[in-house]
Amino acid sequence: MGMTAHDPNFAREQRGILRWLGFGASPLADGRPQEPSADEQADMDPRERRRRQLLSDVGSFLLTHRLEVSPYTLAIAHDIITGADQRLARQIEARVAAREPVSLEWLDEVGRGSAQGEGSAMLNTLMAKLETSLTDFADTTLTARTAASEYNTALEAHVGELEQVSKAGIVITELATIAKVMLERTREIEQEMSRSEMQTRSLQSSLDEARRKAEMDHLTGLPNRRAFESTLEKELVAAKSCGEPLCVAFVDIDHFKMVNDTHGHEAGDRVLKAVAQTLAKISGDKCHVARHGGEEFVALIRGKSLEQTWQVLDDAREAMAERRLVNRANDMPFGKITFSGGVADIFAYPKPGDALKAADDALYIAKAQGRNCIVYAEQKGAKATD
Ligand code: GH3
Ligand code: MG
Ligand code: MG
Repeated sequence: MGMTAHDPNFAREQRGILRWLGFGASPLADGRPQEPSADEQADMDPRERRRRQLLSDVGSFLLTHRLEVSPYTLAIAHDIITGADQRLARQIEARVAAREPVSLEWLDEVGRGSAQGEGSAMLNTLMAKLETSLTDFADTTLTARTAASEYNTALEAHVGELEQVSKAGIVITELATIAKVMLERTREIEQEMSRSEMQTRSLQSSLDEARRKAEMDHLTGLPNRRAFESTLEKELVAAKSCGEPLCVAFVDIDHFKMVNDTHGHEAGDRVLKAVAQTLAKISGDKCHVARHGGEEFVALIRGKSLEQTWQVLDDAREAMAERRLVNRANDMPFGKITFSGGVADIFAYPKPGDALKAADDALYIAKAQGRNCIVYAEQKGAKATD
């Protein structure tokens, strides 16, 4: 503890980690980026090399500045290294020159916005790669440490034998000395590896935690839109391989602005949570409900026909309309809280995106029809169905 990014011991330890990760030496720690060997250069295609370099630089940046691995810090590192945020890069340079830490608080102060949004596909790729490197690294370290430890024991026994022989008058003292030095060195290596292993574990768990946080909506506890997008990809594959139907539904709370206007935003938040709770009840192995944003939710259902999907959503709609919510701050009733929805069969359209759009259009038709209802999507430009 108490080490800073500018502590030479810290920099050395981190360089060790980076080498193990296959990143080469930290360019920020010793000023010289380490190129892969000529053999590696020849094997690697330029895109792979660029990707590795980017990953290496991002890793170096986070480790050098002791920044926790999160989508936020990954995005910052990425933007600085690719030159997307040159203003911040200059500010960081000045900060490092002044020997001030580049902390999360400072980054917030200099006004970096949230990293959600456009760069998210890139972030996903980066996080996945970091995760793979970490897993490989953890395996390697464990094997190497076990080997070092076994070697150590063997060597120890051998040193004892050598000393016995030496006492018997044969001049092999030098050999015994060398063996002792080797023994000490392997002990050091073993300790270093155990430290690296611990650092890897902590990096790994912060990465897991970052991923979990990045995919959850904090207000409702439901998966967020980002999580929905990756679930959609997985469910598309699963549905195709099992020959099952896959349907999508968009849901939006009715007249929600009025709830906020009448009861205040905080009370509005509680209503949002209550709707999320009702919708979460339909969740299961093959039904995923997520908060798509604002007061809009999305459900993805595999293994049910469009009609069955409509029924699931309509039952949830009815359950919501029957609830009588009361503002616990002042016991004022919220009145009837309802939502409207649109459902579409994903495989009835040329692309999943078209189905999502059709379900969203159907939601607006539900609004126009008076709300508190679920409407089937029109199948314009749709593939023929039975
Ligand atoms: P409609 O039936 O047509 O959907 O009417 P609406 O009032 O629900 O629709 P509109 O899009 O006009 O308003 C949505 C409101 O939801 C506006 C926005 O302030 C509010 N909102 C979005 N996200 C949140 C949130 O996280 N908390 C709270 N309290 N309000 C939110
Ligand atoms: Mg609404
Ligand atoms: Mg809305």
